Amino acid sequence: TDGRGIFKVYSPDMGKKIRRYHYLLDEMRLAIASENFHLSFQPIVDVDDCAIDYFEALVRWEHPKEGLISPEEFIPIAEESNIILELGDWIMLESCRQMSAWYNAGMRKVKISVNISGVQLKHCNIYDWVMDKLSKTGLPAHALMLEITESTFIEASNKIIQTLEQLRAEGITIAIDDFGTGFSSLSTLADLPIDVIKLDRLFVSQAKDNAKYHKIMHSVSELGAKLGLKVVAEGVEDVKQFELVKSMGINSIQGYLISHPESSLNVGHKVLQDNLN
Ligand code: C2E
Ligand code: CA
Ligand code: CA
Ligand code: CA
Repeated sequence: TDGRGIFKVYSPDMGKKIRRYHYLLDEMRLAIASENFHLSFQPIVDVDDCAIDYFEALVRWEHPKEGLISPEEFIPIAEESNIILELGDWIMLESCRQMSAWYNAGMRKVKISVNISGVQLKHCNIYDWVMDKLSKTGLPAHALMLEITESTFIEASNKIIQTLEQLRAEGITIAIDDFGTGFSSLSTLADLPIDVIKLDRLFVSQAKDNAKYHKIMHSVSELGAKLGLKVVAEGVEDVKQFELVKSMGINSIQGYLISHPESSLNVGHKVLQDNLN
């Protein structure tokens, strides 16, 4: 080196990032206490009849001064600092509570789908934790799906895999999220305790112009069918993408074409009326 050591890679940007990290960390602690988080819900629908199969619960942070802060920014910070344990606890309880209310209002064929961070899997017994939420809210196990990213699966210990297996035995559905971005091999899919593959939206957005992505999508769809897994395509934004996904035999879609994530109030107004009539 030239003797200047680490000062060579210093950039003023880094200081800004570190300050932002600590700022958001402190603000998140406050936000949990003052209930500034809420959930929005995005439907995942069957390609054949557009019936709702699942609602994915997505956390939203309405900051009193800064407005909406994206989960793409605060979830990684929450994970690094373990605040995700507290936040994730609230997310799971609130998701089950909301779905239980919808279930009791007549929405019987829809599952609530909750994102689980790898940090949560490592730090607590996910079986006891999930079962506790079900008993607290009265939600039936078959109305819950857990989304775990492909990269979390790649790092998961045998013990975590066994715990997920136990949850499946209770009737809970397990999905592998952001599939196709984590470099697991297709052959490992057969050994994972999963029911649903959520194909990352990268594939849907690229398939039209990129033959390689097109082929991968097709093989995932075929393999899913052979293994008895449901395949969901994320990020379907227009009719062309919808037609493509449908022609490949993919089971369900999620994306702006169907609906943006919405507040529970809007969902209640739109969906419950339809479902009950
Ligand atoms: P994800 O789990 O892949 O969630 C789907 C994301 O795609 C959501 O972004 C959703 O709003 C967005 N999306 C849905 N349809 C479309 C579409 O047609 N086009 C495009 N461009 N985007 C679409 P969101 O809500 O900003 O969440 C981003 C990520 O933050 C999530 O990605 C997930 O990794 C994380 N996240 C969000 N909520 C939670 C949560 O409650 N717990 C945990 N652990 N992570 C969460
Ligand atoms: Ca997800
Ligand atoms: Ca995803
Ligand atoms: Ca994603």
